[in-house]
Order: sequence, then C-alpha cells, then structure tokens
Amino acid sequence: MHGLIDSHCHVDFPQFDASRDEVLRACHQNGMSAILVPGVTLAQWPRLSEVIHAYPDVTHYPRLLPAYGLHPCFMADHAAESTAGLMARLDAQLAEEAGCVVAVGEIGLDSFHSTADLKQQVTLFEAQLRIAGSHGLPVIIHSRKTQDLVLKSVRKQRFSFGGILHAFSGSLQQAQQAVDLGFKIGFGGAATYERASRLRGMLKALPREAIVFETDAPDIPPSFARDRPNSPFNLFRIVEILAQVRQESVADLLEYSSKNLIGVLNLAD
Ligand SMILES: [Zn+2]
Repeated sequence: MHGLIDSHCHVDFPQFDASRDEVLRACHQNGMSAILVPGVTLAQWPRLSEVIHAYPDVTHYPRLLPAYGLHPCFMADHAAESTAGLMARLDAQLAEEAGCVVAVGEIGLDSFHSTADLKQQVTLFEAQLRIAGSHGLPVIIHSRKTQDLVLKSVRKQRFSFGGILHAFSGSLQQAQQAVDLGFKIGFGGAATYERASRLRGMLKALPREAIVFETDAPDIPPSFARDRPNSPFNLFRIVEILAQVRQESVADLLEYSSKNLIGVLNLAD
C-alpha cells in the first residue's frame, strides 16, 4: 500500500511561503507520501532546490521530488540565453542534483495564448528532450492546444524514457498515443467540475496503467475550493471525486496511481 502522491505541485512558489510547513505537515499526516515539484525558469531553480533540501525529514513531511526544466509559457525569461547556453545549465543542474532529481520538466508547447513563438518553443522542447534522454530521465510535459506537435517531437527525438502529460486537455486518441509512447496522463482539479464532460469521459475510458493524479497548486483550483488558491492538500478530496467518476474505490485509485508514478519516475518502492 502506497501513500497518495501529488505528481505536479509548485509548492516552492512564494504563494506557499507563509503556509508551506503547515500544508506539507497536514499532507503527510493524511497519508501523502511524495510531491513532485517541477522547474519552470532558470531563475526559479535555486529556490526550488532550496525548498526541496529544506524538507529531508520524510517521517513528518512528504518526500519532495524535484524536476528541472524550462516551461514554454516563460519564453521571454529563457530568451536571456542561447539554447546551447540554457542546455549547458540544465545539464549541469541535473548532474549536480543526480540521485535526487526525478525528471526534466516542466517542458512542452503552449499555443493557447499565442503561436508567435511556437517555433522557438519547439526548438527548446526538443533540446530538453535530448538532455533528458542523455540523463535517462522521464519528462513532465505541459501541452495546451499542441498535443499532436508534442507527440511529433517525442517521436522525432526518439525519446524513450516516458513521463507525464500533466493537466492533459487533448483527445482520448491523443492520450492513447501518448500512453503507447510510455507516458502517463495527469488528472486533477479540472476533472472535478461536472461540466468537464469530455475530460471526465477520458478519465473513465483510460486504463488504470495510464492514470496519475496532480493538483498543479497553486493553479487549477478544484470545484469544491474554486475561490481560493489551490493546495496539495486538496488532492485527497480530488481523488475521492475522481474515484466516483471512474466508479472505483479510493483505495484502488491510490494504489494504482502511486504504482504508476513509482514506475514512470523510477522511484525506489
Ligand atoms: Zn505546472
């Protein structure tokens, strides 16, 4: 029996500075065993590393698992350095945190707001896939209106270490293609809304082996706490609601989603 794992939570962000200790303690007390904390920009990595290493006590806090990467929604931040320069920094960061870092991310493509810099996004995404491959690490992927392009890049780079498509918003067919390429599909607060019928349909249709859970806190507040910033603690209730959607027991969801994460992130069982 494994504890619940939040596969995507920005608990290093300043929004948690006042409450982090208390929130993490409460998560652990309720049975959360680990939280994956993704990287977004070069400037954010030192703080991420600091927060991760501030919580080595796994008897009172969930294990914090870092990923390092450059998020496609912050292209302006990444523009300060060349792609080669950025990749040298990522390579060095992964080497420095070897044994601790579990993935490269979050990386990906986002054309929801604008497609103006999509070409640069693809260049950066594919470069990060190559770095992840060279370290034998899975990737955490952010994709909005770009699911086919993401799959195309993964195939083109012959990337074989799998990972997680986080906050997935594509079609069932795209999800199945991603699963065939070694990816898990991340579900969270968005699927707690009754009106999210397409997402809920996908959650029901996918096999157990494909599914992992996440909050993306402080983003994507669930239906039962929509007016507040999201928290990893909400994952307990999110999983209860998603268990109802899949007509399975919460215990089953906990067991197989944690097993999926342990497998894809190569965590010690
Ligand atoms: Zn995120």
